[in-house]
Amino acid sequence: MSAGRSDGCICRARRYRARMAADPVTPPASPPVLDRLDRPVEDLRVSLTDRCNLRCTYCMPREMFGPDHAFLPREELLSFEELTRVLAAFIDLGVSKLRLTGGEPLLRTDLPDLIAMIAPLPGVQDIALTTNGILLPRLAGRLVAAGLKRVTISLDALDDETFRRVADTPLSVRAVTEGVEAALAAGLSPVKINSVIQRGVNDHQIEDLAGWARDTGVTLRFIEFMDVGTTNGWQRERVVPADEVQARIHARWPIAPVEPDRQGEVAERFRYLDGAGEVGIVASVTRPFCRTCVRARLSAIGELYTCLFAATGHDLRAVVRGGASDEELRAAIASVWRARTDRASELRTEGGLTGERVEMSYIGG
Ligand code: SAM
Ligand code: SF4
Ligand code: SF4
Repeated sequence: MSAGRSDGCICRARRYRARMAADPVTPPASPPVLDRLDRPVEDLRVSLTDRCNLRCTYCMPREMFGPDHAFLPREELLSFEELTRVLAAFIDLGVSKLRLTGGEPLLRTDLPDLIAMIAPLPGVQDIALTTNGILLPRLAGRLVAAGLKRVTISLDALDDETFRRVADTPLSVRAVTEGVEAALAAGLSPVKINSVIQRGVNDHQIEDLAGWARDTGVTLRFIEFMDVGTTNGWQRERVVPADEVQARIHARWPIAPVEPDRQGEVAERFRYLDGAGEVGIVASVTRPFCRTCVRARLSAIGELYTCLFAATGHDLRAVVRGGASDEELRAAIASVWRARTDRASELRTEGGLTGERVEMSYIGG
């Protein structure tokens, strides 16, 4: 088992069983909905759009996402009222953590309105936003006023040449670091940074990125390059294994593993022994964590995906627009979750996954 990640089954299911064993007479309010591998649904990633203002080569290569690409028409997207209703149903089934993502979620410039609608939902413990940060100088203040507490910003390089090559943009790194500054100034806390590392592309940036994050007071998480979708030309040789990232950081600034705050945490956490905060590694390829995966994903048009590597989703928009009651909506979600057997990363072969897979920009990262 990898450092910093505790082993085994899911704590909520365990707690429920322990609770029932201790007092079988008075059952807790509602039993968790478990999938076929005993995993509850606790974390929902919500894609708000499949569009983006960047073309990161590992996510939306321009050859595949050019002017001719058929993005979802605006009228197909769930309205914020529909989305809030779907989120409330997930929360009733055990979800407590929501992550708003995409595509680039800040392209929905009315996003503060959605935050204001979902922040007060009873049972929501955490709302996170993953963004490339470019529109944060314009929106950070309004997002905070609407109830957003924290943000994750993606940045894969600190030198303009590498950044431009990876994100396929004429913009410079400043476009993102200004977003980081805007997030900090608006009071978002924590501000986390995601960096996807690819061998021969930006692996020379590992120490620079970690050093910059330490100096800036943000928590950086290195992410292994994944074979999401079928368009990003994934090759295993381009994956920089977590072991290597960990060793390189440790050689420069000694680190020690930190116990996860909760089961199902995606990033393995490490603290700098000199007290300069933490760094994380998401080792989806070399240390798969399907066993504790409590994440569901919702596309911008309301399809429920039970795995990042799924080929198809389950149409909840049809359920909502078909006039289902809240109970029927919950039942539809629960029946999909109960049938879930996904563990794609555990089943990944040397050459990577095969078969159709939804694109990450569509399903939400
Ligand atoms: N546009 C926003 C952003 O970039 O933060 C949100 C959506 S993006 C799909 C969410 C996260 O997925 C980003 O941190 C991105 O770096 C990561 N990601 C995208 N493609 C990936 C891949 N092939 N492997 C690993 N991470 C990837
Ligand atoms: Fe856009 Fe985010 Fe994908 Fe980059 S990683 S292309 S910013 S959705
Ligand atoms: Fe969860 Fe699927 Fe990723 Fe495994 S591969 S951790 S089941 S999303």
